[in-house]
Amino acid sequence: MEGEDFVKQKISDKILSKVQKPTRYIGNEWNSVHKDPKEVEMRFAFGFPDIYEVGMSHLGMKILYHMLNDRQDVYCERVFAPWVDMEEQMRQHHIPLFALESGDPISEFDFVGFTLQYEMSYSNILNMLDLAGIPLMASEREKGHPFICAGGPCAYNPEPLAAFIDFFMMGEGEEVLNEVMDAYAEWKRSGGTRTDFLERVCQIEGVYVPQFYDVAYNGDGTIHHMIRTNEKAPEKIKKRIIKDLDHTYFPREIIVPFMEIVHDRIMLEIFRGCTRGCRFCQAGIIYRPVRERTPQKLLEIAKALNKATGYEEISLSSLSTSDYTALEGLTEGLLDLTEQEKINLALPSLRVDSFSLALMNKVQKVRKSGLTFAPEAGTQRLRDVINKGVTEEDLVKSVTLAFEGGWNNVKLYFMIGLPTETLEDVEGIANLAYQVLDAYFTVPKEQRNRGVNVTVSTSSFVPKAFTPFQWHAQDTIEQLREKQAHLKSKIKNKKIKYNWHDAPLSFLEAVFARGDRKLSEVLARAQEKGCRFDGWSEYFDYEKWMESFDECGVDPHFYTARKRPYEEILPWDHIDVGVTKKFLINESEKALRGETTPHCRQNCTGCGAAVFEGGVCFE
Ligand code: SF4
Repeated sequence: MEGEDFVKQKISDKILSKVQKPTRYIGNEWNSVHKDPKEVEMRFAFGFPDIYEVGMSHLGMKILYHMLNDRQDVYCERVFAPWVDMEEQMRQHHIPLFALESGDPISEFDFVGFTLQYEMSYSNILNMLDLAGIPLMASEREKGHPFICAGGPCAYNPEPLAAFIDFFMMGEGEEVLNEVMDAYAEWKRSGGTRTDFLERVCQIEGVYVPQFYDVAYNGDGTIHHMIRTNEKAPEKIKKRIIKDLDHTYFPREIIVPFMEIVHDRIMLEIFRGCTRGCRFCQAGIIYRPVRERTPQKLLEIAKALNKATGYEEISLSSLSTSDYTALEGLTEGLLDLTEQEKINLALPSLRVDSFSLALMNKVQKVRKSGLTFAPEAGTQRLRDVINKGVTEEDLVKSVTLAFEGGWNNVKLYFMIGLPTETLEDVEGIANLAYQVLDAYFTVPKEQRNRGVNVTVSTSSFVPKAFTPFQWHAQDTIEQLREKQAHLKSKIKNKKIKYNWHDAPLSFLEAVFARGDRKLSEVLARAQEKGCRFDGWSEYFDYEKWMESFDECGVDPHFYTARKRPYEEILPWDHIDVGVTKKFLINESEKALRGETTPHCRQNCTGCGAAVFEGGVCFE
């Protein structure tokens, strides 16, 4: 039964009328790609393990979806996690999980590829495979079943998902995904076994086939060693990065959804990587070294995307926009376009220390939205520990500039539970918020905008793989709650609002962020119990998770509460991100001494990324 007919047959209006936001399930949006499945060699279902509005905001998916569809031999379609009401309808009416473009069941595809952006989406991946009727365990898949692959930042510790994923792609996908497609086309024509195909792809740089490795544990649960079980598989899997961003694929048209999505705008990726070296930040390490697109290339892309979408906003995306070397020149060029087109230009992540009022005034002529600053820690001592090279003076100077410029909504992002943190550091967060408020009242009444709002938001520190803090313990749920309550007790002014993250959720995220293969069984048990949409507080069921750990005889605190010795074999040690363990250990020790490390543009600190990429990071 043909795609749209299939959807129309199965997903009748009757069903769509029973679910929230039915637009999530109908596809056919502007710039979505439609091909005749019989005309292509490979069908790739790009899976985002969350709802449509979240997935459609993901830049990586936009890039790889259009890149694959620009190939004649591939038909790439999208699949998202159906919301709970739709899942209920699908199970009731025996409707397998289908792709948005054709409406065909994804179990009929050659590949189902998941992007791993957040550890709390893992239960959705298993639930989507279950809804699709695809065996959860890679070992139970046979000829005719799609190959399940995955990539994205969480893939840098792939082990908790090792039992479910046929192969992972480490690093940036543009080149490696095309190489995998080429290998698959050859394999499909050769008519080999699934193992033949996996032996082919495991020799492509960046591809990790977990079933070709075995892990042996010590009595205390730590890893004794990891061994290859297939000699075609590499000892170490080297991440892939794109050297020349200007000459790498970036779509000139993107899908424009019918419904509002989280990031509903043109996202212009100006560079990858970051030079700052904040010690809690995984992205700052795994995307090294820094590579920029030129303003000319970015302007050409912006013009094409504006023409193809009619979007009313362009936002510059990177890990630290104010570090882009040609920011003034780029914004000048973009402002000509945005003024002409009467659309908005958004500069999301600006560092506290380089906040330039002039730039913000230029950019937000059309509409002044709230400003966000991320001091991360409440005292200079702790900011030095995490190497967040900004000072109280920087923050007060920037917010004062902002208040003088007419802004009156300021968001301040912090983390609690950081290594070496004391209650004094937690109180420091309240003190900074009060200093920001005071800065507002230093601006003459006639110059400042009426009604100031300061929002303090604290996330809980989650130690991540490939960071200097990968060996550090996470605070317990009780300790995090104590600190949240302590901070709350210090913020008494109504003009300062305080939001905090749910400690049990951060605990579970930390378990999977540094977990090993023993967690696969727990994940499968939790999915059986109905755990899904764990990232959504209304569906996160901590008790069910703890039951699952219990029933599987796995202690989750083993992964969070222990300070790990530097000699311990870590579950992700078989992955090479360029940055060396020696550099991370050195940074960890400097953190404990409260010493800072200058950012790369000041001087190279020899993290290893340059050697990885053949020489220099910056000309
Ligand atoms: S090699 Fe040096 S310049 Fe390059 S990312 Fe590492 S520390 Fe920075």
